[in-house]
Amino acid sequence: MRRKLAAGNWKMNGNAASLSELKTLKDLLPPNPPQVVICPPAPLLFRATEAARGTDIMIGAQDCHMQHSGAFTGDVSADLIADTGATFVIVGHSERRDTHEERDSDVRKKATSAWASGLTAIICIGETLDDHAANNTLDIIAGQLAGSLPDGMTTSNTVIAYEPIWAIGTGKVPTLEQIIEVHDFIRAKLVTRCGAEVADMIPLLYGGSVKPDNAATIFQAENVDGALVGGASLKATDFAPIIAAL
Ligand code: PGA
Repeated sequence: MRRKLAAGNWKMNGNAASLSELKTLKDLLPPNPPQVVICPPAPLLFRATEAARGTDIMIGAQDCHMQHSGAFTGDVSADLIADTGATFVIVGHSERRDTHEERDSDVRKKATSAWASGLTAIICIGETLDDHAANNTLDIIAGQLAGSLPDGMTTSNTVIAYEPIWAIGTGKVPTLEQIIEVHDFIRAKLVTRCGAEVADMIPLLYGGSVKPDNAATIFQAENVDGALVGGASLKATDFAPIIAAL
Protein backbone atom coordinates (compact mmCIF):
# COMPACT_ATOMS: atom_id res chain seq x y z
CA MET A 1 0.00 0.00 0.00
CA ARG A 2 1.25 3.43 -0.95
CA ARG A 3 1.54 5.84 1.94
CA LYS A 4 -0.88 8.74 2.02
CA LEU A 5 0.37 12.18 2.81
CA ALA A 6 -1.06 15.63 3.46
CA ALA A 7 1.44 18.48 3.30
CA GLY A 8 0.66 22.03 4.38
CA ASN A 9 2.61 24.82 2.72
CA TRP A 10 2.31 27.94 4.84
CA LYS A 11 4.28 29.99 2.27
CA MET A 12 5.29 33.40 3.73
CA ASN A 13 2.46 33.33 6.25
CA GLY A 14 2.23 32.80 9.96
CA ASN A 15 4.61 33.56 12.81
CA ALA A 16 5.79 31.93 16.02
CA ALA A 17 2.33 32.29 17.55
CA SER A 18 0.80 30.38 14.62
CA LEU A 19 2.65 27.25 15.75
CA SER A 20 -0.13 26.74 18.28
CA GLU A 21 -2.06 25.44 15.24
CA LEU A 22 0.11 22.30 15.43
CA LYS A 23 -1.30 21.42 18.83
CA THR A 24 -4.84 22.07 17.60
CA LEU A 25 -4.19 19.94 14.52
CA LYS A 26 -2.80 17.09 16.62
CA ASP A 27 -6.00 17.08 18.67
CA LEU A 28 -8.14 17.06 15.51
CA LEU A 29 -6.30 14.27 13.65
CA PRO A 30 -8.30 11.12 12.94
CA PRO A 31 -7.13 7.82 14.42
CA ASN A 32 -4.38 6.26 12.26
CA PRO A 33 -3.83 9.49 10.34
CA PRO A 34 -1.95 9.63 7.05
CA GLN A 35 1.46 11.29 7.13
CA VAL A 36 1.05 14.97 7.90
CA VAL A 37 3.75 17.51 7.11
CA ILE A 38 3.67 21.21 7.93
CA CYS A 39 6.04 23.47 6.00
CA PRO A 40 6.33 26.82 7.80
CA PRO A 41 8.65 29.66 6.79
CA ALA A 42 12.33 28.84 7.43
CA PRO A 43 12.81 30.99 10.57
CA LEU A 44 10.11 28.93 12.30
CA LEU A 45 11.58 25.51 11.55
CA PHE A 46 13.38 24.97 14.88
CA ARG A 47 10.37 25.99 16.92
CA ALA A 48 8.06 24.01 14.66
CA THR A 49 9.99 20.77 15.20
CA GLU A 50 9.80 21.41 18.94
CA ALA A 51 6.08 22.10 18.74
CA ALA A 52 5.57 18.90 16.75
CA ARG A 53 7.56 16.70 19.14
CA GLY A 54 5.46 13.84 20.48
CA THR A 55 2.86 14.25 17.71
CA ASP A 56 2.42 12.49 14.36
CA ILE A 57 3.09 15.78 12.58
CA MET A 58 6.31 16.14 10.62
CA ILE A 59 7.99 19.37 9.62
CA GLY A 60 9.31 20.44 6.24
CA ALA A 61 10.90 23.49 4.63
CA GLN A 62 9.64 25.28 1.53
CA ASP A 63 12.91 25.41 -0.39
CA CYS A 64 16.60 24.65 -0.03
CA HIS A 65 19.78 25.77 -1.71
CA MET A 66 21.50 23.30 -4.00
CA GLN A 67 24.86 23.68 -2.20
CA HIS A 68 25.46 22.45 1.33
CA SER A 69 27.29 25.55 2.58
CA GLY A 70 29.17 28.53 1.32
CA ALA A 71 28.91 32.18 0.36
CA PHE A 72 25.20 32.28 -0.45
CA THR A 73 23.85 35.16 1.61
CA GLY A 74 20.28 34.65 2.70
CA ASP A 75 19.98 31.09 1.44
CA VAL A 76 19.28 27.99 3.50
CA SER A 77 20.92 24.63 2.81
CA ALA A 78 19.32 21.22 3.12
CA ASP A 79 21.90 20.42 5.82
CA LEU A 80 20.65 23.35 7.90
CA ILE A 81 17.06 22.29 7.37
CA ALA A 82 17.87 18.76 8.54
CA ASP A 83 19.68 20.26 11.54
CA THR A 84 16.39 21.81 12.70
CA GLY A 85 14.84 18.35 12.87
CA ALA A 86 12.74 18.91 9.73
CA THR A 87 12.49 15.86 7.48
CA PHE A 88 10.92 17.19 4.27
CA VAL A 89 11.57 20.02 1.85
CA ILE A 90 9.45 21.33 -1.01
CA VAL A 91 11.49 21.99 -4.15
CA GLY A 92 10.44 23.55 -7.43
CA HIS A 93 7.23 25.14 -6.20
CA SER A 94 5.79 27.19 -9.06
CA GLU A 95 6.12 30.38 -7.00
CA ARG A 96 9.86 29.77 -6.82
CA ARG A 97 10.08 28.76 -10.46
CA ASP A 98 8.31 32.03 -11.26
CA THR A 99 9.64 34.64 -8.84
CA HIS A 100 13.14 33.13 -8.43
CA GLU A 101 13.42 31.89 -11.99
CA GLU A 102 14.22 28.36 -10.91
CA ARG A 103 14.68 26.00 -13.83
CA ASP A 104 14.16 22.26 -13.94
CA SER A 105 17.92 21.76 -13.63
CA ASP A 106 17.96 23.84 -10.43
CA VAL A 107 15.09 21.84 -9.00
CA ARG A 108 16.91 18.62 -9.79
CA LYS A 109 20.04 19.83 -7.99
CA LYS A 110 17.99 20.95 -4.99
CA ALA A 111 16.29 17.56 -4.74
CA THR A 112 19.69 15.85 -4.92
CA SER A 113 20.97 18.11 -2.15
CA ALA A 114 17.87 17.37 -0.06
CA TRP A 115 18.47 13.63 -0.39
CA ALA A 116 22.13 13.99 0.58
CA SER A 117 20.96 15.63 3.82
CA GLY A 118 18.49 12.85 4.49
CA LEU A 119 15.41 14.89 3.61
CA THR A 120 12.44 13.76 1.55
CA ALA A 121 11.99 16.08 -1.43
CA ILE A 122 8.47 17.13 -2.40
CA ILE A 123 9.15 17.93 -6.05
CA CYS A 124 6.54 20.24 -7.61
CA ILE A 125 5.47 20.40 -11.24
CA GLY A 126 2.53 22.01 -12.99
CA GLU A 127 1.43 23.87 -16.10
CA THR A 128 0.40 27.49 -16.61
CA LEU A 129 -3.10 28.54 -17.59
CA ASP A 130 -1.92 29.18 -21.15
CA ASP A 131 -0.47 25.69 -21.43
CA HIS A 132 -3.63 24.24 -19.95
CA ALA A 133 -5.82 26.18 -22.39
CA ALA A 134 -3.64 25.10 -25.32
CA ASN A 135 -3.92 21.43 -24.29
CA ASN A 136 -0.20 21.26 -23.63
CA THR A 137 -0.47 20.00 -20.06
CA LEU A 138 0.93 16.51 -20.61
CA ASP A 139 3.84 17.79 -22.72
CA ILE A 140 4.76 20.32 -20.04
CA ILE A 141 4.49 17.73 -17.29
CA ALA A 142 6.62 15.27 -19.24
CA GLY A 143 9.29 17.93 -19.73
CA GLN A 144 9.27 18.96 -16.08
CA LEU A 145 9.49 15.36 -14.91
CA ALA A 146 12.39 14.64 -17.26
CA GLY A 147 14.23 17.78 -16.13
CA SER A 148 13.40 18.03 -12.44
CA LEU A 149 13.67 14.45 -11.18
CA PRO A 150 17.16 13.29 -10.32
CA ASP A 151 18.21 9.68 -10.86
CA GLY A 152 18.13 7.71 -7.63
CA MET A 153 14.52 8.16 -6.59
CA THR A 154 13.43 5.81 -3.84
CA THR A 155 10.07 5.16 -2.25
CA SER A 156 11.10 7.24 0.76
CA ASN A 157 13.16 10.12 -0.63
CA THR A 158 10.67 11.48 -3.15
CA VAL A 159 7.13 12.79 -3.22
CA ILE A 160 5.78 14.42 -6.39
CA ALA A 161 3.23 17.20 -6.25
CA TYR A 162 1.21 18.08 -9.33
CA GLU A 163 0.05 21.66 -8.95
CA PRO A 164 -1.56 23.34 -11.96
CA ILE A 165 -0.37 26.93 -11.57
CA TRP A 166 -3.80 28.27 -12.55
CA ALA A 167 -5.35 26.38 -9.63
CA ILE A 168 -3.02 27.72 -6.94
CA GLY A 169 -4.75 30.24 -4.70
CA THR A 170 -7.48 30.83 -7.27
CA GLY A 171 -10.30 28.60 -6.06
CA LYS A 172 -10.24 26.92 -9.50
CA VAL A 173 -9.69 23.17 -9.54
CA PRO A 174 -9.34 20.86 -12.55
CA THR A 175 -12.13 18.37 -13.07
CA LEU A 176 -11.66 14.96 -11.47
CA GLU A 177 -11.13 13.54 -14.98
CA GLN A 178 -8.32 16.02 -15.63
CA ILE A 179 -6.69 15.21 -12.29
CA ILE A 180 -6.94 11.49 -13.01
CA GLU A 181 -5.45 11.94 -16.48
CA VAL A 182 -2.42 13.87 -15.25
CA HIS A 183 -1.76 11.68 -12.21
CA ASP A 184 -2.04 8.48 -14.26
CA PHE A 185 0.35 10.05 -16.76
CA ILE A 186 2.86 10.92 -14.02
CA ARG A 187 2.67 7.39 -12.61
CA ALA A 188 3.31 5.90 -16.06
CA LYS A 189 6.30 8.21 -16.60
CA LEU A 190 7.69 7.17 -13.21
CA VAL A 191 7.39 3.51 -14.17
CA THR A 192 9.47 4.18 -17.28
CA ARG A 193 11.94 6.18 -15.25
CA CYS A 194 12.54 3.99 -12.22
CA GLY A 195 10.65 0.73 -12.70
CA ALA A 196 7.21 -0.31 -11.49
CA GLU A 197 8.32 -1.41 -8.04
CA VAL A 198 9.63 2.03 -7.01
CA ALA A 199 7.19 4.04 -9.14
CA ASP A 200 4.16 2.37 -7.60
CA MET A 201 5.21 3.42 -4.10
CA ILE A 202 6.08 7.08 -4.69
CA PRO A 203 3.28 9.28 -3.32
CA LEU A 204 1.71 11.67 -5.84
CA LEU A 205 0.06 14.74 -4.34
CA TYR A 206 -2.42 17.06 -5.98
CA GLY A 207 -2.12 20.75 -5.09
CA GLY A 208 -4.08 23.87 -6.00
CA SER A 209 -7.12 25.18 -4.10
CA VAL A 210 -7.65 21.99 -2.09
CA LYS A 211 -10.32 22.80 0.51
CA PRO A 212 -12.36 20.82 3.00
CA ASP A 213 -15.30 20.76 0.56
CA ASN A 214 -13.44 19.42 -2.52
CA ALA A 215 -10.82 17.15 -0.93
CA ALA A 216 -12.91 13.98 -0.88
CA THR A 217 -13.69 14.30 -4.60
CA ILE A 218 -10.03 14.85 -5.52
CA PHE A 219 -8.94 11.90 -3.37
CA GLN A 220 -11.17 9.57 -5.40
CA ALA A 221 -8.45 9.48 -8.06
CA GLU A 222 -6.49 6.26 -7.67
CA ASN A 223 -3.14 7.94 -8.30
CA VAL A 224 -3.76 10.83 -5.93
CA ASP A 225 -2.11 9.86 -2.65
CA GLY A 226 -2.63 13.13 -0.86
CA ALA A 227 -2.49 16.88 -1.21
CA LEU A 228 -0.15 19.83 -1.02
CA VAL A 229 -2.31 22.47 0.61
CA GLY A 230 -1.58 26.19 0.81
CA GLY A 231 -4.26 28.50 2.18
CA ALA A 232 -6.34 25.77 3.82
CA SER A 233 -3.34 24.48 5.82
CA LEU A 234 -2.95 27.66 7.85
CA LYS A 235 -5.84 26.87 10.17
CA ALA A 236 -5.98 23.45 11.80
CA THR A 237 -9.76 23.52 11.59
CA ASP A 238 -9.51 23.74 7.76
CA PHE A 239 -6.61 21.32 7.34
CA ALA A 240 -7.97 18.58 9.63
CA PRO A 241 -11.04 17.77 7.49
CA ILE A 242 -8.83 17.57 4.39
CA ILE A 243 -6.57 15.09 6.20
CA ALA A 244 -9.60 13.16 7.39
CA ALA A 245 -10.86 12.86 3.77
CA LEU A 246 -7.68 11.01 2.74
P1 PGA B 1 -3.41 26.73 -2.38
O1 PGA B 1 -1.81 26.57 -2.60
O2 PGA B 1 -3.87 25.49 -1.66
O3 PGA B 1 -3.54 27.96 -1.54
O4 PGA B 1 -4.01 26.86 -3.73
C1 PGA B 1 -1.25 25.33 -2.93
C2 PGA B 1 0.24 25.46 -3.09
O5 PGA B 1 0.71 26.44 -3.64
O6 PGA B 1 0.99 24.57 -2.65
